[in-house]
Amino acid sequence: MNQANVVKIRGAREHNLKNVSVDVPRDCFVAFSGISGSGKSSLAFGTIYAEAQRRYFESVSPYARRLIDQLAVPDVDSIEGLPPAIALQQQRGASNPRSTVGSVSTLSHLLRMLFSRAGDYPRGLALLYAEDFSPNTPQGACPNCHGLGQLYDVSEQSMVPNDRLSIRERAIAAWPPAWHGQNLRDILVSLGYDVDVPWHRLPKKQRDWILYTEEQPRVPVYAGYSPAETRRALKRKEEPSYLGTFTGVRKYVLETYRGTHSAVMKKRVTRFLSAMPCPVCHGKRLKPEALRVRFGGEDIAALSHVPLSELSRRLSESNLTHLSDERRVAAERLIRNLVQRIGTLDKLGLGYLFLDRTAPTLSPGESQRLRMATQMSSNLFGVVYVLDEPSAGLHPADTEALLEALQVLRSHGNSLFVIEHDLDILRRADWLIDVGPGAGEEGGEILYSGPPQNVRKVAGSATGQYLFKKPPIIADDPRPATGWLKLRKVTRNNLSALDVDIPLGVFAVVSGVSGAGKSSLLHALIDLLHDRVARERAATEAGQAEELPPLSGTAPQSSGELHAGGENVTRVVSIDQRPIGRTPRSNLATYTGLFDEVRRLFAATPVAKAHRFGAGRFSFNVSGGRCPRCEGEGFVSVELLFMPSVYSPCPVCHGARYNEATLQAKLRGKNIAEVLGLSVRQALEFFAAEPSVQRPLKLLNAIGLGYLRLGQPATELSGGEAQRIKLATELQRVPRGATLYVIDEPTIGLHAADIDLLLLQLNALVHAGNSVLVAEHDTRILAQADWVIDLGPGAGNLGGRIVAAGTPAMLAENASSKTGIHLAKSCGRDTQSA
Ligand code: ADP
Ligand code: ADP
Ligand code: ZN
Ligand code: ZN
Repeated sequence: MNQANVVKIRGAREHNLKNVSVDVPRDCFVAFSGISGSGKSSLAFGTIYAEAQRRYFESVSPYARRLIDQLAVPDVDSIEGLPPAIALQQQRGASNPRSTVGSVSTLSHLLRMLFSRAGDYPRGLALLYAEDFSPNTPQGACPNCHGLGQLYDVSEQSMVPNDRLSIRERAIAAWPPAWHGQNLRDILVSLGYDVDVPWHRLPKKQRDWILYTEEQPRVPVYAGYSPAETRRALKRKEEPSYLGTFTGVRKYVLETYRGTHSAVMKKRVTRFLSAMPCPVCHGKRLKPEALRVRFGGEDIAALSHVPLSELSRRLSESNLTHLSDERRVAAERLIRNLVQRIGTLDKLGLGYLFLDRTAPTLSPGESQRLRMATQMSSNLFGVVYVLDEPSAGLHPADTEALLEALQVLRSHGNSLFVIEHDLDILRRADWLIDVGPGAGEEGGEILYSGPPQNVRKVAGSATGQYLFKKPPIIADDPRPATGWLKLRKVTRNNLSALDVDIPLGVFAVVSGVSGAGKSSLLHALIDLLHDRVARERAATEAGQAEELPPLSGTAPQSSGELHAGGENVTRVVSIDQRPIGRTPRSNLATYTGLFDEVRRLFAATPVAKAHRFGAGRFSFNVSGGRCPRCEGEGFVSVELLFMPSVYSPCPVCHGARYNEATLQAKLRGKNIAEVLGLSVRQALEFFAAEPSVQRPLKLLNAIGLGYLRLGQPATELSGGEAQRIKLATELQRVPRGATLYVIDEPTIGLHAADIDLLLLQLNALVHAGNSVLVAEHDTRILAQADWVIDLGPGAGNLGGRIVAAGTPAMLAENASSKTGIHLAKSCGRDTQSA
């Protein structure tokens, strides 16, 4: 290695890194490998990228520094030869709902310029500027919906779901519950409305007034009186109980939605709102003038809603002969630029997206590849790109294109530091840095740094074994289905009237290229089963307020019918990669429920008994046993003038989270804080005699999470770790059978060695009489499935159909399936039994 051309890292100790030193070559493609939790991210992001960021922030003013979300200063002795770095991380959750594929890629800007310069203007319409074609600017937005394209509103049907009921029988479901609702009813009585006839028998005029009036009359209310008594009292001008103010139902719903600070109230009224297309722009979000300008006969909103590959074709075939020379030259230049950029996206398997697809609806993999393609057009050079598993969500058939894209970035004179698990990609890297050997405390060392082929000689490297070990073997004894879920006319996103049969009692996989419709099928299945069985989402945090549901209309809708087989499923559980909690207060021990057992054990210790400490005393979430200074968080935030606030260990409990008295209670020599500090594996030994604690710990260990600490805050866990914790929690339930587990891409973030552990657990679920359905690309998973449903053949409107359905062996012989071809190419066959 040329010593002048390396990033020299000395003494890195971030998270689990064991004071490691390594030279990482620049200007080439470096892959970081190792099992989940070994320390790859701690090295690539936590150390290298964080240090590059820190240096960048040092060069800007303290004021600017405060405004930027700054990363912590990494724990490392020195780093030499470090160029500026750009991170393309897997983004989860929060992204701006107004940002779209078009804005992230900057393609929308180019298209707006094209419309401004070369669009066909109707007679009398003055020239519009690019901003006039953007729904996100005041100049361009539809004035009625402010560029949202939809308005939230109520309907009679939503406010009064059952019109056979009378008002007294709570026909108006949207009214507030309890006293407030009764009050509104009594006001209607005073106003002379009949609250005892079924709603549908009231005259339309009366119904409309009750629902839609903006008037707020103030009238005497006689609490506890019957309608007849009220009429008499009014006539006699009796002293009322109080004066009540009426509010129309729609007004109540909208004002509560906008004004309330209570999440519960907001969630309640959200049920009665639905999104309706804006009547002025018909959902196109732009002002009327902008929509009158056309290119190739279409307005800009229409062109923003065709797949990118199709948009590119239309643009390159467009007729420009009617334009003046000057405008034609401008148009040609813009079109060339657009077509070239779309080509890059297309190669990365994203040609099925359209410009107005909003960023939050993209999968993390799609989002990362989109940002990667955008970087490729930016012509930066001399920077380090740090990427997190760019192959996530990508079908193996598209790996070649990803490698080409990485080569383009590199050939511009950049360095690529890439965390990866995909064995094909690891083999093709210029340089491999393998971190391990285990995870957490048992990892954090550099096992190997050099050309990929020599990692095979490294003892203790899981990567070396899997990279050169025999390929995955296609299962030759698939289990037969015990029943079938027959879905008919499934429609959602790119699935249209699809008929599909899903096997029960087995391990089944839905495969297909990225964008083929795998997730859409899983979501539709859950929706269709919903009416029949309890739907559970393993992500819901115990004891925490649920997130607000999306307003109906913003989420894609499924339709279709569950034709047969529903009676064989009593429960459906979807296990996703969403965090198990958003605060450091939830952790592994609380989520899995094992902490309840541990606290009971502590309450039974002599010290606890002497002080009458109950199990609640050992919770850091309620006052009593926790440290009063940090309220059980273990750290406090320190506000610094002109600097970002930092977290530092609590000065009172020093991170223990509990008060002195609580820490006096000891179980076999350890206090509660020390027990929370144990790793799963250490805890297995410590609790060897307590079967109720053993069970969840064993499962966590079996699924490859033995390195996590019991008290590890949810905020430190990766999506893959969260998903496996949910799976382990599910596995520890008393086996009930007849549950359908639906899991979207469980292998993201997992090393081949982790995948083998995961497979064991998925099979355990099937053994216990359940069904497992996963959406996957990974060959190891496909090869071991009992049944594969391959969607495709392409993505978006080129996908959404069933290309093949059968056992993996059948699929491997199917030359019309990309998945089958890949499976045949990369798997061994069990030749003895064949
Ligand atoms: P990998 O990228 O190889 O999966 P990580 O670098 O994310 O591994 O994690 C290595 C170890 O550091 C794990 O034990 C993990 O739990 C721990 N860790 C990760 N993030 C944090 C954090 N923010 N604070 C403390 N520990 C962390
Ligand atoms: P896969 O899971 O196979 O990658 P998806 O089911 O995510 O495929 O996507 C199938 C098609 O549906 C794609 O064309 C995608 O752009 C579209 N799609 C997916 N989610 C949404 C959404 N929330 N809104 C609009 N279109 C979507
Ligand atoms: Zn509008
Ligand atoms: Zn404290």
